[in-house]
Amino acid sequence: MQAPWFAPLVIGAAILGWLCALLFGEVVWLGDLTRMLQTAFLSALKMIIAPMIFFSLLTGIMQLRQAGSVGRLGGVTIAYYFFTSAIAIGIGLTVVFIFHPWTAYPPLQELPDMELDLISADQGGLTDLSTNLITSLLSNPFAALAETNILGILFAAILIGLAAANHLPKDSKWPEMLNELTQVVFTIARWVIATMPLGLFAIAFQMTERIDVTTLISLGYFAGIVIGATLFHGLFVLPAIAWLMTGTKPWHLLRNIYQPMLTALLTSSSAATLPVSLNTAENRLQVDPPKAAFVLPLGATINMDGTALFEGIAVVFLAYMFNVPLDGASIVIIFFVAMLASAGAPGIPTGSMAGLQTVLLAVGIPLEAIALLLIIERPLDTIRTAVNVQGDLVGSMVVNKWA
Ligand code: ASP
Repeated sequence: MQAPWFAPLVIGAAILGWLCALLFGEVVWLGDLTRMLQTAFLSALKMIIAPMIFFSLLTGIMQLRQAGSVGRLGGVTIAYYFFTSAIAIGIGLTVVFIFHPWTAYPPLQELPDMELDLISADQGGLTDLSTNLITSLLSNPFAALAETNILGILFAAILIGLAAANHLPKDSKWPEMLNELTQVVFTIARWVIATMPLGLFAIAFQMTERIDVTTLISLGYFAGIVIGATLFHGLFVLPAIAWLMTGTKPWHLLRNIYQPMLTALLTSSSAATLPVSLNTAENRLQVDPPKAAFVLPLGATINMDGTALFEGIAVVFLAYMFNVPLDGASIVIIFFVAMLASAGAPGIPTGSMAGLQTVLLAVGIPLEAIALLLIIERPLDTIRTAVNVQGDLVGSMVVNKWA
């Protein structure tokens, strides 16, 4: 358990980083120092992701398998992820039509002149998305661990866990030994989390330095709608689901998840936040460790409420900005392809951009339209990542109660 002063210390450190960037953003050595601290903190988080997922999931599967409950757990988890992603896209599509942000601008005649790093049209189709998913799932387990390919690690851990549980005799010592090993990895994770105030100070400093205020203002209307809808999902919808499904009061939920929320806000990566989420689920939300180990890594990979909601709004916005007519069928296509694309997006900063291109292609919007989004992508990514992580945490509570 963390000391009670750790929460204010973490929040204070992030605010201090932001203030220092505003006051001393030009000081070269401070910029260099915070860049180094940021790299160290993020690398430490990334260092423990792969072993943490692999060992905790493997242990979890073996324990659950012994208790005979993997099937039900998987079913409840997938049903929850599907249900909340659908609500998120539904909110995005509703809000964008109510506030129709495109009326703030004349339709664009020319595409913004930006350096683009886009996939080509023949690479962005649904077949390609599925092929990529299959290749990630079925990769060599050692390569998956070395490259932190989360889908690959998940698949390997589940497969090995099931095979081991089937093969090993009932009195085998292996589950116990693996559990010990998992605890060792978690001890390292706790050490990394203890450095969070320093890490978040550095990240807040670096981020404030990079954001260009004038570019933010130019797309403010669109950004405001995305932020409003994402906050609505995070502050009302998910807490309401947690309340209805587990009896946890909204304030209690929000107070207990501040650590992963802040980490997600400042790293823009569900994957990098995973060690903090696992720690929070087990120690603050009292989720059964094997269940947390199953639900959270899977969620960090395929359950992205914030991303799904963002993609829904962004595609409709871009369609109007570039004069592409949308009919009822296009909206249904956006709904389903955005759900698939958000599930396929890696939990890394700006991870959803490749999938977003698939949704654009599905309804005939030129890929170059995405350039407009790239201008304001970074700040929006912070908030949607926090809601992605929150959705996973609520999922772990729901699964804990119902599976
Ligand atoms: N940054 C997001 C995440 O890690 C993915 C995205 O929407 O770009 O959850």
